[in-house]
Amino acid sequence: MLYDLHTHSHCSDGLLSPTELVALAQERGVHALALTDHDTLAGIEEARAVAQTLTIISGVELSAQWQGRNIHIVGLDVDVQCPSLTEALRRQSQVRVARAQTLAQRLQKVGVDKALEGARQYSQGDIVGRPHFARYMVEAGYVKDIQQAFDRYLGAGKIGDIKLHWPCVQEAVAWIVQASGIAVLAHPDKYALTRTKLYRLIGDFADAGGKALEVVSGQQDKQLTDKLMRAANHFSLLASSGSDFHAPEQFWRLPGSQTPLPSRCKPVWEAFKPATMAALNTPAL
Ligand code: MN
Ligand code: MN
Ligand code: MN
Repeated sequence: MLYDLHTHSHCSDGLLSPTELVALAQERGVHALALTDHDTLAGIEEARAVAQTLTIISGVELSAQWQGRNIHIVGLDVDVQCPSLTEALRRQSQVRVARAQTLAQRLQKVGVDKALEGARQYSQGDIVGRPHFARYMVEAGYVKDIQQAFDRYLGAGKIGDIKLHWPCVQEAVAWIVQASGIAVLAHPDKYALTRTKLYRLIGDFADAGGKALEVVSGQQDKQLTDKLMRAANHFSLLASSGSDFHAPEQFWRLPGSQTPLPSRCKPVWEAFKPATMAALNTPAL
């Protein structure tokens, strides 16, 4: 069975529609695909409707904060109807809308016109993020490429680097638990933490009810895989694996292309609900 438990569609910052994502994942032989868009469940229904040779795991990637850092927590096998989760996601999206408005105002002051309207053209859902602003700025000729948009305007320390108030780790994990899902600490290596700090984060996450660590994110070297496997085992957490696919250009993050999970891990899918496991064993054809 080939699992990919972390992917994005254009319902957040991915390039493909849920339909296109499912088609690509099926073509690549993925059996279980979690759609985990940032702070939205909007694409799940479409993905489920078109899936033929694979099973869709309902998922979401929540933004949270921990000691001043932006942390991502993936929820897997969540109940998409759960009122407290859907209400929480509505509030998360308001945070992003407010940021987009502030960002557009700041860009206006430095001579970038109609940035919000422009960025919206590139966003399919209601989430307008910095990549959408970057694309608009390239198309409208303010910068030569996406990189320059980030270097001059949108990257760390620039005017577009607007700190958002996200929920704490405990709160984000609680939303997933309330939706009877499994909380996974996403890409632990991306937070640039020392080992001591990383273990503190994982400890806080596990204390809050977090159940799994994303031991594999895309294609990664053995050293990192071993390090994260040891961390998962140290805290008795399950191990997850996902490509974090956003766009086909990132060929090292294609659906199902991740480094295999080491055998000394306990895979997160062992904790999926019985109904999900049953669906996995009998995909609709
Ligand atoms: Mn993303
Ligand atoms: Mn992430
Ligand atoms: Mn992601």
